Amino acid sequence: MASKLVEEIQKNIQTVRDKTASKIAYSLLNHSEPRLIAVSKVQPIEKIDAALEVGQRVFGENRVQEAEERWAPRREAYKDLTLILIGSLQTNKVSNAVALFDEIQSLDRIKLARSLKKEMTNQGKNIPLMIQVNTGCEEQKGGCLPQDLNALVAECEALDLNVVGLMCIPTAGEDPSLHFHLLKKLATIYGYEKLSMGMSGDYDLAAAMGSSDIRVGTAIFGARIST
Ligand SMILES: *Cc1c(COP(=O)(O)O)cnc(C)c1O
Repeated sequence: MASKLVEEIQKNIQTVRDKTASKIAYSLLNHSEPRLIAVSKVQPIEKIDAALEVGQRVFGENRVQEAEERWAPRREAYKDLTLILIGSLQTNKVSNAVALFDEIQSLDRIKLARSLKKEMTNQGKNIPLMIQVNTGCEEQKGGCLPQDLNALVAECEALDLNVVGLMCIPTAGEDPSLHFHLLKKLATIYGYEKLSMGMSGDYDLAAAMGSSDIRVGTAIFGARIST
């Protein structure tokens, strides 16, 4: 017998998938369905285990240490996990991040690109990366400013990093489609195929605009407990 929590998480995941599929169909564009990244940051461990129980295998976290504590013990049992770092990364945490994560979507500066290269070389890895773009040019926010993207892309190419796409977090209170449009345009200019865009409030819109990864937290797990 599935517990109530398991049923609830399963229902929430299904709702996200259904809404995404119908919005894509409604858009009349030929986008494929995006990968669903379940954002488990700050969520109770029982909810994460419930998501694992119903087959969810792709998870996003925004802090290296928190992710290590909860995921290192689960790696053994779930060999097909994909763990993705979506939060800002300090250079002193790069070694741990490269050891734990399968993908990193928050590459946003040249110094970090160099540090990732060095650490991936040390650890014999070349993990897929996305460049986070600060599409709203917000001062307190992570992400590469659009005007700095050219230099960062050039450095990533020089370092032979495996950059697969771009990621953004729209400015709160603004129409997210403006941010998604900009991200898409930049991806076209630089020849990137993947777009990580769309969160609980706008994942269906993002999917209809061609997102390849949606990052959904509260719509699956409920409100995060504030710390
Ligand atoms: C927290 C977070 C999300 C998920 O946000 P929800 O609104 O809970 O879906 C997505 N992306 C990033 C980068 C986040 O930090």
